[in-house]
Amino acid sequence: VLPVVAVAGRPNVGKSTLFNKLTGRRQALVADTPGVTRDRKEGTALLRGRWVRVIDTAGLEESAPETLAGRMRASSESAVAGADLVLFVVDARAGITPADAHFADWLRRQGRPVLLVANKAEGRAGADAAMDAYSLGLGSPVAISAEHGEGIADLMGEITDRL
Ligand code: GDP
Ligand code: MG
Repeated sequence: VLPVVAVAGRPNVGKSTLFNKLTGRRQALVADTPGVTRDRKEGTALLRGRWVRVIDTAGLEESAPETLAGRMRASSESAVAGADLVLFVVDARAGITPADAHFADWLRRQGRPVLLVANKAEGRAGADAAMDAYSLGLGSPVAISAEHGEGIADLMGEITDRL
């Protein structure tokens, strides 16, 4: 059984871009439990010689709770519950939003290990902006650019260190 890494965070922070970067073509859509209308994307990734299962949390459903933070919780609940490590992705360019902060509070209460990832942190300005994420109280953010492939090797090391 492979360790499970769930990629969570609000829409548009780059979760799927990171998922694709880690898994390449080793991806599949997995039908969720009957009655739960959400399918999720799973893949495998080889990180520093270790295979892990990676889960990209699904899109947000219209029928889910009113607030963005509530919809984030609903879409992430099962993935986070089954994860050995949660990658909580924020957008370094956009900065930390109230939805990020609320989701961080909820994540802390789930009792799963969390690794904070500040994406869209390409270049020096991006690395500086990533430091904003310290305010979430989830430890040091790992600054990456999923799109430009920056910081991915470091991130792989941080992930395997925690598994
Ligand atoms: P998701 O909704 O969290 O799954 O986000 P996506 O992976 O779909 O990405 C949302 C948008 O952010 C897309 O337009 C991506 O091209 C862009 N994006 C993702 N990663 C990066 C990055 O490292 N840097 C920049 N500048 N844009 C990114
Ligand atoms: Mg996505």
